Amino acid sequence: MISVQDGQNRILTQITRATSPELVPLGKALGRVIAEDVRAPFDVPPADNSAVDGYAVGSADIPAGATRDLRVVADLPAGSVFDGALAAGETVRIMTGAPMPRGADTVYPQEVVTKLDGGRVEIGPIAKGANVRMRGEDIHAGTIVIERGTVLRPQEVGLIASLGQVQVTAHRRPRVVLLSTGDEVVEPGQPRTPGQIYDANRFTLRGSIEQCGGEVVDLGIVPDVRDALGARLADAGATGDVVVTSGGVSVGLYDLVKEVLDEIGAIEFWQVAMQPGRPLAVGRIGSAHFFGLPGNPVASMLAFMLFVRPAIHKLAGRRRLFPEVYEARATETMRKKTGRREFKRGILQWRDGGWEVRTTGPQGSGILSSMVAGNCLIVLEEERGDVAPGEPVLVEPF
Ligand code: AMP
Ligand code: MG
Repeated sequence: MISVQDGQNRILTQITRATSPELVPLGKALGRVIAEDVRAPFDVPPADNSAVDGYAVGSADIPAGATRDLRVVADLPAGSVFDGALAAGETVRIMTGAPMPRGADTVYPQEVVTKLDGGRVEIGPIAKGANVRMRGEDIHAGTIVIERGTVLRPQEVGLIASLGQVQVTAHRRPRVVLLSTGDEVVEPGQPRTPGQIYDANRFTLRGSIEQCGGEVVDLGIVPDVRDALGARLADAGATGDVVVTSGGVSVGLYDLVKEVLDEIGAIEFWQVAMQPGRPLAVGRIGSAHFFGLPGNPVASMLAFMLFVRPAIHKLAGRRRLFPEVYEARATETMRKKTGRREFKRGILQWRDGGWEVRTTGPQGSGILSSMVAGNCLIVLEEERGDVAPGEPVLVEPF
């Protein structure tokens, strides 16, 4: 029996290289893992500029705590530059984002200005430097603004655009070949005879793979027939960076994954000290990393989260491989055996100034509706026993 963490470590040490980098247009870069540090080629903003619509003044021109009449000598929309320099007694009408004229260091907001006759305005009192965004206040030229291994969110994409780049170097999405096994498993939309069940796992796992940045190659459902499984898995190994199957890894008469993998690849069966959880099959087919997940829908999703997701993340070049966990107060008794890590589906909510969590109800490894009812995993560590109401527990939001 190995621990969850040992299993994770063994898998991650097998993965020594991330997928190769490729150029991706910025418009398609969302969710991709950037393969190079991004450095700012210039200061952002590139020049001191106005933060409001108003009047640019030299603060030396306004007596402290007093007002002064100034002559408006120009109108400066965003995008244009004032050629001259402000002389004493002058101001320039300036729009948000326009570069500060030479001789000006402060902007008086237009909402509070008093207009006078003859193109004059009454300005002040105002603090020196008010309403000016300074050159480089966001980013200094040469700074690393995004580190390689970062997943690009909308804000990273926008930041890259603000630096004038139109493409990024990103890791290729890991190609993950997916298939379901089992004579009883049928495709949704097809007729179902008594004794058959619709394939759930290929859909939960496809979504899970896509959510973590992988590209799915769907090889459908394979019956529990040795040759068929062997042929499909050999195909899978030649196609993917990763191969994921569900079902056929327990000790039943028709659980053929082990036999077949022994022949066409290499496989290790692990008893992982976790609940829900059954043996997990981990190995290789050619150069592809193989994961044989359990057939029960909750167990397969959980095994994916614990073992396949960090592997895909590492292959994809991510710096962060594991999600954040948080702490919440249990509102009910939770039964827990020591010596293994247990995962319950939980409902996490904010109440009375703190995070509270309860289970979704029955926790069987086939009860997929518990994943739907839940918004988090409750993670109970190995050494822990029963949890009493009010005790803190770790949660991992879905
Ligand atoms: P197995 O490990 O193949 O014996 O499967 C364990 C349980 O999971 C059995 O009840 C299977 O019917 C069920 N199962 C296997 N594959 C799937 C699937 N793709 N979707 C839903 N349930 C499945
Ligand atoms: Mg089966």
